[in-house]
Amino acid sequence: MIKHQGGCHCGNVRYSTAYDPMLVMACHCRTCKKISGVGMTVFAVYGEGEVDIEGELKTYPYRGESGKFVHQGFCSKCGNNIFGNPEILEGVMYLHLGSFDNPQAFAPKVEIWSKTKPTWFTGEGCIVESFEDNGTIERIQLLMENMDQRQ
Ligand SMILES: [Zn+2]
Ligand SMILES: [Zn+2]
Repeated sequence: MIKHQGGCHCGNVRYSTAYDPMLVMACHCRTCKKISGVGMTVFAVYGEGEVDIEGELKTYPYRGESGKFVHQGFCSKCGNNIFGNPEILEGVMYLHLGSFDNPQAFAPKVEIWSKTKPTWFTGEGCIVESFEDNGTIERIQLLMENMDQRQ
């Protein structure tokens, strides 16, 4: 059963999943600002096998703030960023929240790289954990806890 779906602006790339995300997080690193073209990026974290993707994608590898590569998947036609595959967390994908058909379904619980957070970003009380750096170990622990609670 499809629980969430989304895609790019032109409709070439579509995806669907039967799961809720393991974690929804905001990233305030400078690289994400450049990659996304916006002041902050919000990702829904999924296991790679949990999302069915159709359509022609291109990949752009870039070095993340951790020094490891993230492989950015984007629509070959409209250029919309759809997801990132981070080498630092193998087997997971970060789906860009804005690509979901209903991005209102999610709110970030965790934020990382808060030291480069825009001063205008105050959140709406949804953030429960904030890390000045990439908080990788803590995020892996959160992923594990949330995985058990999903249906
Ligand atoms: Zn497209
Ligand atoms: Zn980032």
